[in-house]
Amino acid sequence: MTSLTFYGGVNEIGGNKILLQDKDTKAFLDFGKSFSRRATYFEEYLNPRTSNGIVDFLTMGLVPDIKGVYRDDLMVMAGRKPEEPDIDAVLLTHAHADHADYISFLHEDIPIHMGSACHLILKALSERASRTIEKEILDFKPRPYSAKDSPIERKVNEFRTGDKFKIGSLEVEPIHVDHSVPGAYGFIIWTSEGPIAYTGDIRLHGTHAEMTRDFIERAKEVKPIALITEGTRIADKEKEESEQIVYQESSKTVSETKNLVFADFNFKDVDRLMTFYNIAKETGRKFVVKMNDAFFLKHLSQDKHLNVPNIDDEDIIIYLPKRGSGQYSDKDYKGKDREFLDLHNTWTAEQIASRPDKVLCAIGFYSFTALIDMKLKPGARYIHSSSEPYNEEQELSQERLNAWTEHFGMNKFQSHCSGHARGSDLLQAVKEIDTETIFPIHTEHPDVFKKITTNVTNVEENVKYTI
Ligand SMILES: [Zn+2]
Ligand SMILES: [Zn+2]
Repeated sequence: MTSLTFYGGVNEIGGNKILLQDKDTKAFLDFGKSFSRRATYFEEYLNPRTSNGIVDFLTMGLVPDIKGVYRDDLMVMAGRKPEEPDIDAVLLTHAHADHADYISFLHEDIPIHMGSACHLILKALSERASRTIEKEILDFKPRPYSAKDSPIERKVNEFRTGDKFKIGSLEVEPIHVDHSVPGAYGFIIWTSEGPIAYTGDIRLHGTHAEMTRDFIERAKEVKPIALITEGTRIADKEKEESEQIVYQESSKTVSETKNLVFADFNFKDVDRLMTFYNIAKETGRKFVVKMNDAFFLKHLSQDKHLNVPNIDDEDIIIYLPKRGSGQYSDKDYKGKDREFLDLHNTWTAEQIASRPDKVLCAIGFYSFTALIDMKLKPGARYIHSSSEPYNEEQELSQERLNAWTEHFGMNKFQSHCSGHARGSDLLQAVKEIDTETIFPIHTEHPDVFKKITTNVTNVEENVKYTI
């Protein structure tokens, strides 16, 4: 018997946690964080308590209460007995938080399968930010927390497109797809009843649309008995959009001025990162990155397919923020940040501001205190170019952002292309794949799929669908 149970991503965008059961084999397709559900109860100054382990998350329904899934230390903290893991694997489509983050709670003996670029991104993410219980994907520290404990590593199995591997009675074929983060995959999974296909997050208007086409073609070929598809923008108004348009618009915005230019985008979106890096080079500017984004360059430059520059690239400048004494003293920088200190290309806000037409600052809203140190003069340009609307970075207050840009007399520009397929592209893809059952997830408008077929299941959470 083969079944699917959806523990997240149902009538919401992200938070995918799909249990695929085939005979005795159980695998989760993604195990992400639901931002909308979390925001129902929590906000900036009211957070689930790390000191309470998994209890706040279980009680408030942020993670499903199921057996044989979670870490021993968290079960003990919750007053329960440790449980032998009852899940054979997690298949992770990509590194976005709404698909990956709640792997943090899972038992360390459950292997996580992911693309190699996805692994690099998760390594960069864990290096750039301090540890929290919601971000312990690759390793975790047992709770109650002690600084002395060394982290427990999870078992990670990397794959590349076309690799096939077995998990119990399942055979899995990951196929690369285009999304706003590299290392994104869809899966074709052979079960004892037949193949099923899972899109993960996809788009067909991006720089590498042919990768998503590869997935669709393969899915067509295998004639899946079920298709689990994302539907993020299925009901949205459509407009012409592409990375090329972002490039053209932003290149114009940068080349028209001799003043400072700021570009605000999600660094995990490597297409966008390369768009602005190349615009900087073309307009004779150095590309200024934040210290914590420098970790992305360090890790992603290891994947030759991505062409990402490393931190010692001649066109990269690393912005050194004021810390501690406020005097840029060596003693002010601790831990991993120290590795950037002695690089010749690490500049202070004052150094950056003294060369306004020679820099393009990939410094966004969360580093706006730099504007104070730069003594920013009116006329600087700010390009808002965000790519993934369902993560923390995006939960910024538009009003507060406007207050900053107005205070410093900055001119605002908007240029963006989404990580998710347009409605018409998605419907076309689903029509082509032609499956017996469609399970729309990662969407608030699953009904729109009924426009093209009657084979749509109204997915309900925690319900087991036999296929
Ligand atoms: Zn997503
Ligand atoms: Zn995504």
